[in-house]
Amino acid sequence: MDGYGRYGWNGTSRMNASSALQQFLLGLGVETADRQIVIRQLAELQPQIISLYALILVNAFALAFTHYSLAPVWLTLGAPGVLLPICIARGIHWCRLRPDETSHADAVRHLRRTSVVTVLLSIGFVSWGLALDEYGGPYHQAHVVVFIAITVIACIFCLSHLPTAAFLATAIVMGVFIPYYLMSGNTVFVAIALNVLFVTIVMVRIIVKSFVNFLQLYDAQTEAQRLVDENKRLAMTDSLTSLPNRRYFFEQLNKLLKTSADGQHGFALAIFDLDHFKPINDSYGHTAGDRVLVEAGRRFASLATEDIIVTRLGGDEFGLLVRYSGAASEVLTLCNGICETLHIPVPLGDTQVVPGCSGGLVVYPTGGHTADELFDRADYALYHSKASQRGRTTIFSQEHEDAIRAERAIETNLQNADLAKEMEVVFQPILDTAFNTISLVEGLARWNSPTLGRVSPDRFIAAAERCGMIHTLTIMLLRKALADAVHLPLTVGLSFNLSSHDLVSPSTIMSIIASVRQSNFDPRRLTLELTETALMRDFEAARGSIAALRAIGIKIALDDFGTGYSSLSYVHRLHLDKIKIDRSFLADIDTEIGYNVVNTIVDLCRNLHIDCIAEGIETKEQLSTMRSHGCRYVQGYLVGKPMPFGMLLHELEVRAAAHSDQFVA
Ligand code: C2E
Ligand code: CA
Ligand code: CA
Repeated sequence: MDGYGRYGWNGTSRMNASSALQQFLLGLGVETADRQIVIRQLAELQPQIISLYALILVNAFALAFTHYSLAPVWLTLGAPGVLLPICIARGIHWCRLRPDETSHADAVRHLRRTSVVTVLLSIGFVSWGLALDEYGGPYHQAHVVVFIAITVIACIFCLSHLPTAAFLATAIVMGVFIPYYLMSGNTVFVAIALNVLFVTIVMVRIIVKSFVNFLQLYDAQTEAQRLVDENKRLAMTDSLTSLPNRRYFFEQLNKLLKTSADGQHGFALAIFDLDHFKPINDSYGHTAGDRVLVEAGRRFASLATEDIIVTRLGGDEFGLLVRYSGAASEVLTLCNGICETLHIPVPLGDTQVVPGCSGGLVVYPTGGHTADELFDRADYALYHSKASQRGRTTIFSQEHEDAIRAERAIETNLQNADLAKEMEVVFQPILDTAFNTISLVEGLARWNSPTLGRVSPDRFIAAAERCGMIHTLTIMLLRKALADAVHLPLTVGLSFNLSSHDLVSPSTIMSIIASVRQSNFDPRRLTLELTETALMRDFEAARGSIAALRAIGIKIALDDFGTGYSSLSYVHRLHLDKIKIDRSFLADIDTEIGYNVVNTIVDLCRNLHIDCIAEGIETKEQLSTMRSHGCRYVQGYLVGKPMPFGMLLHELEVRAAAHSDQFVA
């Protein structure tokens, strides 16, 4: 009962117990009362009614015994022979009752039947008692009075949680008992009758009060529970979208893991991340960002059913838990459907934006056995969607599992590596086509691991980022690169890559500045290459770092331009010195899209007076195309592959000699 019915969970309504009070006291209106209250009544009544039947049995036996030789057999044996089996059967029935497992309808039926049986037994026993009063002397008559008085008092006590039955029993027994003895003419019996009447009135008052207390206590407990539930619901609700939040997601995930442990029911976990949320937030402001999140939340919420739990995990991430019985491919289709709905534009005032959405899906138990395992793998699959199929959902597969193992091996080896010994920096020349000279060399890291062999920088840089080693690695590689770069001709600068993590870490930026100062390499000859991912991570922090680096003369290049968000707003808002066109566009330069992208970037650089460097030039045709576009700097295998520093110096000397020969000629 957590009130998340709208998002795939059921809520329930409760009836106020006080309003039920009148029904209980005035009539038998139990069927309209809350199930909980009726069950509590049954539970309270169960031991009391069993004791009551035991007491009636003992009393009846005693009365039959004292009158056995005086009254006819049909009265001493016959009447109890009918009444007592009813009591025994009812007693056994109450012993067997399991209040917690009883439905509302059955509980109501029990209570009603108890009232009816009470009426019948009251009539039966009071008639039997008074019939026996005809026989025997004063002692025997006194026994009858005691029998009736004790039994009715026991009834009132033991039926205190079913006042209707208690009142009926009292009314029937007293209705016969009091007039009978008042009219007996015996002063002692009249006094006893009045005494019993007085005691009964007091006791009826006590049980009404105790039943009211019972209902009030129930009300107070219900209210306290409601407040606890409400608090819990609020603690598990995302205030912006009103969807359940991350805490709820993990609570339900753990519940599903428990209930699915028998392997009977399958479930899947999916994580979604909006594709263009950050640029929307940066360009249109946080209020617009919030509106997009609310609308995205609404679209996600529309999918919720009893088997699909929708939550907002935080930021622009949404999580889904899906119970299913068919094939996993059906869940994948559902997830891709969600991605598509997020491609429908969201209106923002005069304009509209397309949030887009990618997802990662993992299926239990093939994809993992614990909450953390499942979540990490869905996250991994999401990361793959972002990298290779944006706008779609990737399902976690065996290949991903193998890739994770390989990545873990890289992380472990990196953590145990002798970095200074195993890492080196190679240099790739960048050509200034205006003078046909090498004006810059890009330092690229190489790792030769004794156990894994050569590992590509893409992989070990990502591994270093994951295991928190990137700061150490960047500084170590930069120092190595600078140590070589001081031996470069003065006309040649050094370009060096920073990880996206470096740019948002003030301590790394300070270490970079300190390393440059210690190296005696002129900071004005140093370019640091950043990617758009670094800017996306934390734009303000990135902007601060860029300003600090530029303040000492370091130049800033935006690497792999065109592959990320290519947001013009970044280019405008940051002081960039260079843009590097990603080599994938050079590979596609023969196609219309590739041609247009390259053209647009070159024009952009010209207008903003930013140097433009084309990466991945492998053929003379590509070189002449870039030249004709007006792109001045080029880098690629045609100009030179990444090479050790000694080889680079030799290359530079050969080129310089050829250049001066050309000049002399
Ligand atoms: P990047 O910064 O885009 O570096 C250029 C990559 O393109 C290099 O790959 C280079 O060898 C390759 N390349 C250059 N010209 C051509 C060409 O004509 N054709 C082809 N097919 N490839 C070419 P590499 O060295 O494997 O580096 C891969 C990536 O690893 C780099 O991409 C960079 O993002 C990262 N990386 C390398 N060294 C470092 C480093 O010291 N620090 C950081 N943070 N990242 C690094
Ligand atoms: Ca680069
Ligand atoms: Ca690049």
